[in-house]
Amino acid sequence: MKVPYIMTPGPTQVRENVRMARALETTNPDLDLQFYDFYKETCEKIGEFLKTKNEVRILSGEGILGLEAACASLTEKGDRVLVIDNGIFGEGFADFVNIYGGEAVFFKGDRKKKIDEAELKQFLDKDRDFKYATVVHCDTPSGVLNDISKICPLLKEYGIITVVDSVAAMGGEDVRVDDWRIDIVLGGSQKCVSAPPGLTFLSISEDAFKAMESRKTPIASFYCSLLAWKNYYEDKWFPYTPPISDIIGLRVAFDNILKEGLDNVYKRHEKIAKSARKAIQSAGLKLYIKKGFSNTVTVIEVPEGIDDKLLRDYMLKEYNVFIAGSFGYLGGKVIRIGHMGENAREDKVSYTLFVLQRALEHFGVNIEVNLSQEFLNKF
Ligand SMILES: *Cc1c(COP(=O)(O)O)cnc(C)c1O
Repeated sequence: MKVPYIMTPGPTQVRENVRMARALETTNPDLDLQFYDFYKETCEKIGEFLKTKNEVRILSGEGILGLEAACASLTEKGDRVLVIDNGIFGEGFADFVNIYGGEAVFFKGDRKKKIDEAELKQFLDKDRDFKYATVVHCDTPSGVLNDISKICPLLKEYGIITVVDSVAAMGGEDVRVDDWRIDIVLGGSQKCVSAPPGLTFLSISEDAFKAMESRKTPIASFYCSLLAWKNYYEDKWFPYTPPISDIIGLRVAFDNILKEGLDNVYKRHEKIAKSARKAIQSAGLKLYIKKGFSNTVTVIEVPEGIDDKLLRDYMLKEYNVFIAGSFGYLGGKVIRIGHMGENAREDKVSYTLFVLQRALEHFGVNIEVNLSQEFLNKF
């Protein structure tokens, strides 16, 4: 298999020390008590990263498993759930709510802008009868970033439990679970954390556990039950065999982040993202989002008359650089450069912009500036 230079908004490039860690010889993770400590310490590192004292669990499955596990564990038949929707993942939460018998009630925002907290407050003043609410931090198909530092405390004031999908943001955007009173926040291994796909991890508050424990009916899933993981350490029992090699790799990926320092990591993402946006605009290209840019992905409108798939294929075939299109209502309309985690490096993004310019020019789009140079000049 020829490995392309992946500059997609997840999966991202994986550092060598993470790849090597996954090749280490391992023990039996169900029976060897050493692994219970290793798992617990890894969860504590993730807690440090998320700035929380809440419990953290790592589950064997993609980010989607984290979303479904949160909804499966909290939802009972007839529960009203507020689904905050200004993007494809935002809207998609309703599917999980419905599968588990809940009633999804939408708060819809402009899809080119971050959620307006004042409008959300007005909405809640009229209707606050929700067991929990879902919100997406960075909705990756459009690259919009919602301000969970305002949304989550607001929802908690109304007594509503919060579930945040930060799969495409955490590790590139600050997350402060305790300060922002987030009940459940979930991430995935393959985005800004820059480990291979395969794991999801969540922090779970006492309020969230209480809501699960005071259900009238049992959780309608075993694999998606967060309660099944609650007492693993005391009981020395995992609901299923943890993927030990993936977890060893994940731990090294978190060590990489914590060693660089969270503030440095966020600053690096911010600098890359701002410079990329300025360069794109100075080249006369249009950004999709109007307000609320995520520092983890840049979403660019496809210029008139250009087929995004042909453009991306050209970049891949001629230069081995892999960027993404989008899907749903954005299919064919935008292209996306993922500068998250290990992708958020000056050399990688400047080269990607160089290749993008070559491809655009190949298809007849005239660009007056040197895109890559513009990007580097912004540093
Ligand atoms: C990538 C992503 C997920 C997880 O999707 P997978 O298909 O499991 O990778 C969930 N939410 C958001 C916002 C994402 O970007």
